[in-house]
Amino acid sequence: MKDTCITEDWLLRAEDICMKCGGHCCDGAHPPISPKCRERLISLGIPRDAFESVGYLRLKVQDDGQCILMKGGKCSIHTIKPETCRAGPFTFDVTGDRINIYLKHERICPIVGLLKAVPEAYRTQYELAARSITQLVAHLPPDELEVICRIDEPDTDKVSEIPRLDA
Ligand code: SF4
Repeated sequence: MKDTCITEDWLLRAEDICMKCGGHCCDGAHPPISPKCRERLISLGIPRDAFESVGYLRLKVQDDGQCILMKGGKCSIHTIKPETCRAGPFTFDVTGDRINIYLKHERICPIVGLLKAVPEAYRTQYELAARSITQLVAHLPPDELEVICRIDEPDTDKVSEIPRLDA
């Protein structure tokens, strides 16, 4: 019972932090989309012109720079959002058969402070991130993965290395 209360407490705190932040993680966000994820999103009603290819497939942004699927300050596809959106504030790159997992700095994402203060919160989000990123890496075409891994992501610290499923 006590554990449940602690879990509920950090989930509520996380929700509060995200609400107050206002979704800055979706400003200028172009989450990479695997072919499998694209088909899933289209089958669930996302229009085909929400995507663009710039060496890899990604979601477009609106005129104000927010992700095209941000509506009224919230993600309009929260329960089915792409892998890197589920993984945040963890991110990744790939070296050979290993996936390097990074955590963004707190000044980039305020939820990081909570993750560092509450081990249960960190473990839960890290495990979700590792699963999501592993699936994405396995489903991306190799040439697109290479382009994605060249994108600079400053203000991050490496926190782990995990094996690729597809290596
Ligand atoms: S899909 Fe949703 S969570 Fe991901 S960047 Fe777009 S609005 Fe944000």
